[in-house]
Amino acid sequence: MMEHIIAMKSTHILFITCIIVLIAMWPLVTKDGSINTLNQGQTNSGQKIKLLIVPGHEPNDGGAIYLDRKERDMVLILSRELQQLFATDKRFEVMVARDESGFTPTFQSYFDANADTIKLWQAQKKKETVELITSGTLKEIKEIEHNRASDVAALHLYGINKWLNDQRYDLVVHLHINDDNRKKRKTPGKYKGFSIYIPEKQFTASAKSRMVAESIKKELEQHFATSTLASEKGTVLESQKLIATGRYQTLDIPSVLIEYGYIYEPHFERGAFEQGVAQQMAEDTYRGITNVLFP
Ligand SMILES: [Zn+2]
Repeated sequence: MMEHIIAMKSTHILFITCIIVLIAMWPLVTKDGSINTLNQGQTNSGQKIKLLIVPGHEPNDGGAIYLDRKERDMVLILSRELQQLFATDKRFEVMVARDESGFTPTFQSYFDANADTIKLWQAQKKKETVELITSGTLKEIKEIEHNRASDVAALHLYGINKWLNDQRYDLVVHLHINDDNRKKRKTPGKYKGFSIYIPEKQFTASAKSRMVAESIKKELEQHFATSTLASEKGTVLESQKLIATGRYQTLDIPSVLIEYGYIYEPHFERGAFEQGVAQQMAEDTYRGITNVLFP
């Protein structure tokens, strides 16, 4: 009985201590708008925030398709809009991984020159992660089934992660449009709304990724509905499996993967999307990012 009371008391003390620590840390978490918020390795104040925009999928392969709508082309429109907003913002240095001509020269030459290095590095990271899971150090979580990337697409995504780590980038934003895996591809699917994926909480930079994601969510939800898919409830979702959010712990920097909605939703109709919707989505994303970094 006594032991029970002592156990209860120490649980209470632990709980109260946690609350005090959290309250004490809160200003640091929310008010530090400097580059250090995103990348603790960089300490020079006044340094530009290095952001990479990755339009989802390969230049000529993969991604959702609905009637005349092709995700891999539509995310290029989003990417261009987003890039334009950042282009006039001196606080950022922005690169894109892919444009209308394919992967940009920086990335294409990086992939060409480093394919074997990327594969070896990925295999090593995978081995280390599997060992951590086996030993119980890392807990594997159950999550929604994601479409598997082709071998080439996977190589490119891991390559981008490695490049981001090596270049000490501050943030990466992956742009996607979702799809409902269904038989009748010419009729709209069941679900709608946007969601944002981030690294799982045991992964590096998960907390920072969440701050960025929640801020983007706050802006997007003023114009667009959040996902109605049960497993996307909460809208900001953690993943261990997506390469873009650092599968096998291959990414050291904050990452957000935005699924802007389901491709068959009316606002993705080509005319509507190209004449305002894409711009709105880009503006919301831009505000979400800048609000959290420069509160
Ligand atoms: Zn996609």
